[in-house]
Amino acid sequence: MRHRIAVVGAGPAGLTLARVLHRHGHPVTVHERDPSPAARPQGGTLDLHRGMGQLALDKAGLLDGFRALSRPEGQAMRILSPDGAVLRDWPPGPDDTAHPEIDRGRLRDLLLGPLDVRWGRRVSEVVPVAGGRARVRFPGGREEEFDLVVGADGAWSRVRPALTPAVPRYTGVTAVETSLDEVDTRHPGLARLIGDGSMSVYGPDLALTAQRNSGGHVKVYAQFRAPEDWHAGLDLTDAAAVRSHLLALYDGWADPLLDLLRHGTAFVPRPLHTMPVPTTWAHVPGVTLLGDAAHLMPPLGVGANLAMLEGAELAEAILGADPADPAALDKAVRAFEERMWPRAARWASFATEGLDRLVSPDPAAAIALFDDVQ
Ligand SMILES: Cc1cc2nc3c(=O)[nH]c(=O)nc-3n(C[C@H](O)[C@H](O)[C@H](O)COP(=O)(O)OP(=O)(O)OC[C@H]3O[C@@H](n4cnc5c(N)ncnc54)[C@H](O)[C@@H]3O)c2cc1C
Repeated sequence: MRHRIAVVGAGPAGLTLARVLHRHGHPVTVHERDPSPAARPQGGTLDLHRGMGQLALDKAGLLDGFRALSRPEGQAMRILSPDGAVLRDWPPGPDDTAHPEIDRGRLRDLLLGPLDVRWGRRVSEVVPVAGGRARVRFPGGREEEFDLVVGADGAWSRVRPALTPAVPRYTGVTAVETSLDEVDTRHPGLARLIGDGSMSVYGPDLALTAQRNSGGHVKVYAQFRAPEDWHAGLDLTDAAAVRSHLLALYDGWADPLLDLLRHGTAFVPRPLHTMPVPTTWAHVPGVTLLGDAAHLMPPLGVGANLAMLEGAELAEAILGADPADPAALDKAVRAFEERMWPRAARWASFATEGLDRLVSPDPAAAIALFDDVQ
């Protein structure tokens, strides 16, 4: 008999875990609250690092699929000043595959493949039960028991309370996301400004980033330091009102930069939260966490990579646990957690300090951060 494994959440973490298990013929059930794969747009683009996201895809047998769908040219990065001058320009080398970009939607489709995901299954809580197992509860009183329940359900995890009372805290920075379509034909000047990858501009306590996705789609992120209720009195569903608010915030910036906001259609606020560093818990048999559920951190290009790597590593730990030995699975999960915590804490500290430098009173600090890591 194989171990009965439930994964909560079909994001990068949960799907990578499930896909590596599936590759090795191990049954796994994924519960996802979205009613279908197409229920909501998956968001922007992710750069998958060779030793993290790409390594995880390799363990899932999906590296060739990734190479076919990803955009190495999207690694291009430039920094402009608020008056529109190019301060830094880093085009990728011809064979550079250190961290190609992939649209989130494409990555999700790649990971989904043949997996059997239970769509529209919102988990309400997970309760550890005797014998080192755990029970998954759904609204309406339905429940199901597993040998291991993995919370891969993101920032506002419903699995996490089974392990720790820790919750995400607001970082003091909000991103407002908007997007442009068919940028090459409709806004060729902006297309040239952005280049093949991403373009960022830093001012005092605010930043503006435009990132190319495939098919001429561009995501724009206005990031600024503000109290969490910065939008009090502003109707967030009123695109014109949010646009005016942002244009006032970025007043004095060069016109082409402001055009990124002027041409944006819908505006989606994304207040940035982070889990305490480190977040650990007293091990509980039958339940664990990975990805954002375990260690939500500011978006500095690491979260999805780490989530996928952990998914692959936990799958390997499960595959290595002898099903005939009742203690083996628990031992494997405990070892996985002990490996995950310190590494996640290192990346979370990096991302937290990075966000403080990227959205800081001194824009030179942001540029210096890129100079440090390039
Ligand atoms: C603006 C922005 C840009 C980013 N850019 C990058 C980047 O370039 N590179 C990078 O590595 N990271 C990036 N990140 C971080 C990255 O998005 C996350 O770290 C990553 O998505 C975490 O994956 P996950 O699978 O742990 O969680 P998620 O992606 O949040 O997936 C969780 C899944 O669980 C489901 N779910 C939630 N609750 C329940 C429930 N109760 N029952 C069932 N299902 C549930 C959700 O619907 C979702 O499908 C960015 C983040 C943001 C906000």
